[in-house]
Amino acid sequence: MRLPFHCPLIEGEHLLSWFMRYHILSGRQKIKVSLASIGVARGRLKSYDFNETFLAVSEFYKENFDKNFCVTDHSPLALWAFSHGSEYFSAWKKDNQLQLRACFEPNKLAVPASWSYCPICQEEDRDNFGFSFWHSEHQIPGVILCGKHRTPLITDRKVLQVLGVATLPHAYAYQSELKYSDWMLDWNDFVLSIFSMLNSDPSVADKLKLQVDKILDLPESKSLADKKALMEHQKRFDTEVSISILQYLFKFYSQVYKHPPTVLGSTLGYKTYAKGKHPVYWLVILYWLKNEIDWVALK
Ligand SMILES: [Zn+2]
Repeated sequence: MRLPFHCPLIEGEHLLSWFMRYHILSGRQKIKVSLASIGVARGRLKSYDFNETFLAVSEFYKENFDKNFCVTDHSPLALWAFSHGSEYFSAWKKDNQLQLRACFEPNKLAVPASWSYCPICQEEDRDNFGFSFWHSEHQIPGVILCGKHRTPLITDRKVLQVLGVATLPHAYAYQSELKYSDWMLDWNDFVLSIFSMLNSDPSVADKLKLQVDKILDLPESKSLADKKALMEHQKRFDTEVSISILQYLFKFYSQVYKHPPTVLGSTLGYKTYAKGKHPVYWLVILYWLKNEIDWVALK
């Protein structure tokens, strides 16, 4: 459907936020009707689940609004270069038919998977553009503060899981689940800087992973024999990384698990089958080693 409105993506806007605005402007009542119009029977509009709906909206935007639009634009997707390796990731970007390997681990992650917004951006955006929108940057897993205002982001794990009935941020007046703490700023800046590097060059993910192996003196191809060394590193990791960060990211640092996974073992250790690890595992390992990483060598 052609719209009688000018409705481009705003700089920093999440692709699905744009789709929500497109839906509102189209005058259709139900989101499922808008989704059906782009060929999606039932869709879940999640902030970082690059499912069929996300890919369909990406194709729709590319075909109808911007021929140069790339699927990694306007979403936190660039961070998944860690999970899949930049070669596969780049190939996938060119060929949307290739399925993005799954690596979502909702039962282990404590980091919110719901849509988040900054209360100050929400006001500013409405003043500047006439509407508020969901920022890509606020949906990056691990991002806890607004990079611009440094305020804790607001979310609601129940209501804001999926956009649908939900609309734009200004419709909500929730309180932040978290109060500001000192650990947040350094962590947040780190996550944002890594995201920015990967966004401009996904191969940085591979280089960083190689550096982690080198720093920890691990071979590039792993075997079961590396388990002992990883357990030793894990002890150091657990005492050196702030427990607040670990509890914010992973449930197994605040809940009792029968077989609790270890961050290093499950991310860096030997695997019997190829499985992409969720990017927050890589982010926290890099944060732990940030003073030992040769950042200049990445450029
Ligand atoms: Zn803000």
